[in-house]
Amino acid sequence: MSNYRLTDEQRSLKEAARRFAENKLRPIALETERKGEAMSREALKLMAENGYVGLDIPTEYGGLGLDIMGCAVVLEELSSVWFSASTNAMSLLTGPLLVFGTDEQKQNYLPAISSGNLLTAFALTETDAGSDASSIQTFAARDGDDWVINGRKIYITNGARADLIVLFARTDRDAPRGEGITLFLIEKGSPGFSVGQKYDMLAHTANPVAELVFDDCRVPNSCILGEPGGGVRYMQVGFSKARATYGARCAAVAQAALNYALDYMQTREQFGQPLSSFQALRFRAAELYAKIEAARQLSYHACALADAGTDDAPVAASMAKLFGSEVSTKVTEQCIQFLGGHGLDKDHPVERFYRETKLFQVGDGSSEMLSLLISRHLNKQAQAGMHARLASD
Ligand SMILES: Cc1cc2nc3c(=O)[nH]c(=O)nc-3n(C[C@H](O)[C@H](O)[C@H](O)COP(=O)(O)OP(=O)(O)OC[C@H]3O[C@@H](n4cnc5c(N)ncnc54)[C@H](O)[C@@H]3O)c2cc1C
Repeated sequence: MSNYRLTDEQRSLKEAARRFAENKLRPIALETERKGEAMSREALKLMAENGYVGLDIPTEYGGLGLDIMGCAVVLEELSSVWFSASTNAMSLLTGPLLVFGTDEQKQNYLPAISSGNLLTAFALTETDAGSDASSIQTFAARDGDDWVINGRKIYITNGARADLIVLFARTDRDAPRGEGITLFLIEKGSPGFSVGQKYDMLAHTANPVAELVFDDCRVPNSCILGEPGGGVRYMQVGFSKARATYGARCAAVAQAALNYALDYMQTREQFGQPLSSFQALRFRAAELYAKIEAARQLSYHACALADAGTDDAPVAASMAKLFGSEVSTKVTEQCIQFLGGHGLDKDHPVERFYRETKLFQVGDGSSEMLSLLISRHLNKQAQAGMHARLASD
């Protein structure tokens, strides 16, 4: 099962990633999560040395040069062992940087990202602009050859320790909604840039989130990524690519939780029998397994459409993330239930899987925002007198 259009090459890529994740990453993950610490630079370097950072970065810049399906199969294996590490394997920045960056920007940053020497952060969310990202208020004003930036970003993954921030700032206050937003590449140490509050979140302590403060932060014009005002369009490039892979990542976390619970149910006895002998539990596990497989296949499908560049690839990617995150949250929650009180005990990994996967329903397009995107597509199709179908029909 689960081999939607996987080639022999993709299968061996997946197996190699599994070996790396199981043998090298798992011990670090367990130790780091147990201590509640951030993922170390050494761990990032280890991933990079083994080829697992910069999955989508072309080989000429030291990356793996994988297409989106290739990225998905590797991310699955990393996610099933350590979700936080998988987040650092493919930066949201590389999509827009590869498409819209200058040669100089690519040379400056891509090899450093691939080698694990440069950690990136993606700074979009503000206190009054979460789901409604187009309403950001961080403002960059032109001053001679420079830009002067003022504003604050919240909940930025790896914000406090990133070496390079991709910042979304308004550069035209009068532009219509969704326009007048520009992307800036801000290096750590830029004058006027500092880290504010560090948040204590339910999960993701290995990639801690922080507030970023821009107080008359002065940067040269060469820091702009693409054209001024193109920010929202550029953002969609990164999101579309990432969302296609999310379903597979969610499926992988869910499968890891289910596998653990199934093993547990073989040995845990109540009423003189192993839990696995109770039909009510077995049927529930069977249903969850079917949902995981559906989530994985939908994600592979979205990745295949994204690689083919079809018009409906962004909708397929939204569906993959929406469905995958709903499934993984439900599955991991039920896996806690399979273990009873032991499921809430941190000695077992299922509570971590649940906490990790909950973010998928919120970040990089919440379930509600993705439903909105998909429903707009359906409406458009209906208004054109067509039934909504994806390219595989
Ligand atoms: C662990 C973590 C890491 C994060 N990392 C980053 C990062 O690296 N970079 C970054 O920029 N941001 C990051 N975020 C922020 C994240 O992207 C936002 O939390 C997300 O966009 C939702 O925004 P919000 O929290 O302001 O919720 P709100 O926008 O206030 O929404 C609250 C709820 O209302 C729903 N809702 C909102 N509008 C509508 C509507 N029109 N119709 C129906 N429902 C609606 C939402 O879906 C949500 O369920 C991170 C968040 C977390 C928790």
